Amino acid sequence: MAILGAIDPILTKDLDAGTSDVSDAWRCRAYVERGGYSALKKIISEKIPPARVIDELKKSALRGRGGAGFPTGLKWSFMPSDYDGDKYLICNSDEGEPGSFKDRDLLLLNPHAVIEGMVIGAYAMGVKRAYNYIHGEIPEACARFLEALDEARAAGFVGNDILGSGFCVEIFAHRGRGAYVCGEETAMLESLEGKKGQPRNKPPFPAASGLYGAPTTINNTETFAAVPFVVSMGADAYLAAGTPGNGGTKLFSVSGHVERPGNYEVPLGTPFGALLELAGGVRASRALKACIPGGTSAAVLPAEVMMNLTMDYDSISRAGSMLGSGAVIVLDETTCMVGALEAITYFYQRESCGQCSPCREGTRWMHRIVRRIENGEGRSGDLETLEDVARNISGRSICALGDAASAAVQGFLKHFRGEFAHHIERGQCLVPREVQREGCRLRERSSKATS
Ligand code: SF4
Repeated sequence: MAILGAIDPILTKDLDAGTSDVSDAWRCRAYVERGGYSALKKIISEKIPPARVIDELKKSALRGRGGAGFPTGLKWSFMPSDYDGDKYLICNSDEGEPGSFKDRDLLLLNPHAVIEGMVIGAYAMGVKRAYNYIHGEIPEACARFLEALDEARAAGFVGNDILGSGFCVEIFAHRGRGAYVCGEETAMLESLEGKKGQPRNKPPFPAASGLYGAPTTINNTETFAAVPFVVSMGADAYLAAGTPGNGGTKLFSVSGHVERPGNYEVPLGTPFGALLELAGGVRASRALKACIPGGTSAAVLPAEVMMNLTMDYDSISRAGSMLGSGAVIVLDETTCMVGALEAITYFYQRESCGQCSPCREGTRWMHRIVRRIENGEGRSGDLETLEDVARNISGRSICALGDAASAAVQGFLKHFRGEFAHHIERGQCLVPREVQREGCRLRERSSKATS
């Protein structure tokens, strides 16, 4: 089931070919022809009260698609309805999670679904100004969104007196500069205000004091794109498309060692094996070794665990990881897990904003230790130190970046400790040399040692 509609062309698109060569399916006219903006028209023509829109979202069990999986209707209900001043709505398109590229393609291929969702959100929460904060490294997606916004404004779906209802909302696009941490909602608010993008201490939470100190609601791009479908289909039908507590469908960005990397929309609760099959299976018919089910912020899980899981928030969480943004990174038997973790720890130490010591220092220590293990220079006690540093970051930082870095290290050590120990004790990679790839720095050394 493809609720998000125009995302379908992605199924056959070769990622290497880029995303610029797409049809006109993204345009306002095409969106309207396939039923677009009918949810907004329904709300306006039937004069559905804002509170009923929020209730419908609550019933649908639509959960935030950006990573945390927080119930959308509940989040919208936190926005004070009796507040006199300006309130703000923000779409988080600052998609920086390694492995995640669904929001980029939604903006390119189905931008009007995002706009319609934002307008409905503004109506439900009494907001007159909304922003879409778009990741700095996808300028083509920002340009597409701006073009779509012009079309929506010209058609009377955005701006003053929408569809003759008297309801007004203006939407703006704002391009970030590519910092991962600006995807954290309070860092995004700082950045939007023109300040250095660093997370704020919480509380207060944005619903009470967000952009310019005013009540603010922030949702992910895919969450907004799903809203019109909840309103059009009705909460019960949307919920039925997923599993109880995990309503609807979800986009999964499948990358890594698969035959057909790309974005796939499937009902929440789909078995992991079925999603893997959609992506063409593990490349070159190799064996699956592991999978990171929700972007690098989620703990890695071994193949035998993954193959028994369904792709929904609760199932992945019970297995000790998280669904996150739905960035599914597939690792086959040729993967050196030490090398994989080195890349991940490098990312977090580069992206830490440096505000809190456990994250700033800890991410650097973790990367340094993993790098020396990968280089065959590991020392006895390194794994214990690594675990200790990871434990001491967790829960001691202002935002979730520190926790994410810690979870990544703990996940790799929990499931693949033997591989790290082998690197330290033998100065060799445990991956059999027949299947090792050039990327493994210990390849040469292990080849000599076993020949
Ligand atoms: Fe910055 Fe890291 Fe602290 Fe987040 S956890 S505020 S990224 S130093």
